[in-house]
Amino acid sequence: MTIFAKIIAGEIPAERLYEDEHVVAFRDINPQAPVHVLVVPRKPLISVAHADAEDAELLGRLLLAAARVARELGLEPGGYRLVTNIGDQGGQSVYHLHVHLLGGRQMSWPPG
Ligand code: AMP
Repeated sequence: MTIFAKIIAGEIPAERLYEDEHVVAFRDINPQAPVHVLVVPRKPLISVAHADAEDAELLGRLLLAAARVARELGLEPGGYRLVTNIGDQGGQSVYHLHVHLLGGRQMSWPPG
């Protein structure tokens, strides 16, 4: 069981900003921007690379929830970044699919 599964189950605390039947959004414990939120599916998918066609709607829900949280936190119209890390070389450290919502400062490109 990953740490995110424990957060979803309410076994360890997190600052939840949004949740519904399919997804949960909570603040990252080690923020890399003034706003840093993680949006995760309740379904314990490892990453986008482990999703298949039956997860198509869920993946859409993740992005829509991230956009909703961004809007509610006042990140429009300035903008923000959504990113999902996949595997070791992609920088993934928690193996439960999550979308990072980063905002509140100017983002640079390319990421490190
Ligand atoms: P990644 O490296 O893309 O897998 O991102 C994992 C993220 O989870 C990191 O940004 C961590 O700071 C964050 N994280 C780890 N443990 C917790 C926790 N208990 N509550 C909130 N965020 C966490």
